[in-house]
Amino acid sequence: MLTLEKMYSMGHEQVVYFQDKTCGLKAIIAIHDTTLGPALGGTRFWNYATEEDALVDVLRLSKGMTYKAAVSGLNLGGGKAVIIGDPKKDKSEALFRSFGRFIESLNGRYITAEDVNTTVDDIEHIFAETNYVTGVAQQYGGSGNPAPYTALGVFRGLEASVTKAYGNRSLKGKTVAIQGVGSVGYELAKLLNEAGANLVYTDINERGIEKMKESFTNAKFVSANEIFSTACDIYAPCALGASVNDETIAQLKCKIIAGAANNQLKEDRHGQMVKDKGIIYAPDYLINAGGLMNVSIEFEGWADSKSRRMIDTIYDKTLEVFRISDEQNIPVNKAADVMAEKRIESIRNIKNAYLGKTNFRLPGQKNRRG
Ligand code: NAD
Repeated sequence: MLTLEKMYSMGHEQVVYFQDKTCGLKAIIAIHDTTLGPALGGTRFWNYATEEDALVDVLRLSKGMTYKAAVSGLNLGGGKAVIIGDPKKDKSEALFRSFGRFIESLNGRYITAEDVNTTVDDIEHIFAETNYVTGVAQQYGGSGNPAPYTALGVFRGLEASVTKAYGNRSLKGKTVAIQGVGSVGYELAKLLNEAGANLVYTDINERGIEKMKESFTNAKFVSANEIFSTACDIYAPCALGASVNDETIAQLKCKIIAGAANNQLKEDRHGQMVKDKGIIYAPDYLINAGGLMNVSIEFEGWADSKSRRMIDTIYDKTLEVFRISDEQNIPVNKAADVMAEKRIESIRNIKNAYLGKTNFRLPGQKNRRG
């Protein structure tokens, strides 16, 4: 159950429950922290076993968005939404429009986007009711599919990692083992292939494997279990979270872990284990922030060149996190948190000063004496 104490312990500002019986909408929006700007995060459509599961997910994900925006240098806070239901059966125009109306009622404190099981088509319905939505189709002035931009950011993170490991940013001749060649993994493979890297990959989806075989004849397929023990320079997790854990760390033969997946470390302590093994770990929520950076540009008028320019900064930011990690002798995942928290704290502090805009008149008064 949500208690104020639970909200307090995770630092959330606001958690809102919505329902609309006319269309079956049941949703929770969690706004974690808006120090840096409006809370932005996608809407996940999931058949949660219990309401508690949905709440835990939205609280965890919204907090993650605060850190991702902060470390990426964006003027955005962290938020996330979950819609409780079966995406195969419960989606409708009315449901998404109703959800859009609820978002509108938050007056811009929360801005949504796509997430697991929500698509550009669903976003279009939300967009009919509110402007507080990103990831809108390019035909409507939005930024469209985020995967190529997420992949570009991951690629910059890989370049920063090889700079740290080998002294220069070239990926030519480096062997990269990609776990999951879906939307982002496939786009990353394209960039790596162009850069002259050797590709090893795995997936559990036949279509994805076929596409890789057709596109990259030199790429080597390995089974889902073999990917961890593959001899390579970089292990790039681009499937699900938690693939870096007790069992896999023991098998890894790479020098670097850098990929797109969220929450790659199963537990925080795995950051230290990886460090102890001498593996460089590129912080997942920083190097996969290209998609978030891309949608953030929609507010000022999206353009491919602006997006790429912003995403290129991931290279320097990743090196900065490595520097903090070395200086403070802490694992990279902790160093990324430190960088995010420091930025939020510094911006919160500058807001302390009174800016002198108080209106001393009461409504209807010409001046204070009437
Ligand atoms: P996707 O569903 O298109 O691709 C994931 C791929 O991983 C699929 O092809 C799937 O078959 C494969 N896979 C699943 N389990 C596997 C396993 N055990 N072994 C091997 N392959 C497996 O998803 P995506 O959009 O490419 O996202 C990939 C990851 O990156 C996710 O963790 C996602 O949260 C994260 N991410 C994505 C974006 C984005 O812009 N799409 C942005 C930030 C983070």
